[in-house]
Amino acid sequence: MIITRFAPSPTGRLHLGHAYAAVIAHQEGGRFLVRFEDIDHTRVRPEFYEGILEDLTWLGLTWDEEPWRQLDRLAHYQKALDQLKKLGVIYPCYCTRKEIESELAHLTHAPHGPEGPLYPGTCRELTQPPDPREPAWRLNIKKASALTGPLTFQNGQAPTPVQADLLGDVILARKDIGTSYHLAVVVDDAAQNITLVTRGQDLLPSTHIHRVLQTLLGLPEPRYLHHPLICDDTGQRLAKRHDSLALATLRAQGLSKDDVLKMLASPSLE
Ligand code: GLU
Ligand code: ZN
Repeated sequence: MIITRFAPSPTGRLHLGHAYAAVIAHQEGGRFLVRFEDIDHTRVRPEFYEGILEDLTWLGLTWDEEPWRQLDRLAHYQKALDQLKKLGVIYPCYCTRKEIESELAHLTHAPHGPEGPLYPGTCRELTQPPDPREPAWRLNIKKASALTGPLTFQNGQAPTPVQADLLGDVILARKDIGTSYHLAVVVDDAAQNITLVTRGQDLLPSTHIHRVLQTLLGLPEPRYLHHPLICDDTGQRLAKRHDSLALATLRAQGLSKDDVLKMLASPSLE
């Protein structure tokens, strides 16, 4: 049985890009689950949980279990973090964003990933906390990949070798919330028995890290399918600012669900 999920953040209503992701997950799945990625708690608005479900219902997509909220699951992420602590593969980081930027500006060879500069490793070898501030926790990717050895993940039909260091020493627990996208998604995909993770191409680099985390935490390996992102007529990927392409707006303009599903099947959006 294939189990897929759609994992929106309740920071806005769904636009065409989300609808596309949801349709893909729904059509691949024998079971289709919804999970709210709400750990960005300062940007979450309570009305968007219901609003998103309303948008999905309007599209004709039904889900098979009560949707999960990541804010309800912080204790599970803490447990996983403790497990990684015991393995010695994470370390506390006290840097502010400003400090990281200034450190990077001073380096002649700042480490780079697909999305820009990577954390320069300032706190990796700290033996004493520099101050009483609450730290974030980062994955020591060198240590982690020494433990896991070489890995692959199933990307569509193709086994893809994991490039563990693609995103550097990523944050696994933010100071404010004690988890991060990477940690929460890996823990939840396993807890919901997701067998096929469908998501946008932009998250492909993250999948490399997720395979490492699954291996360290002894979690099962799902298959992956990364879909292209829907772009507007200028070639920009859709974002929250594209209010004109929000499903609620299109619906208010009198478009039917079938009109919208047809728009998703055609390559250019006006
Ligand atoms: N919340 C992410 C998004 O809306 C999805 C993350 C995932 O599917 O792993 O793009
Ligand atoms: Zn640091």
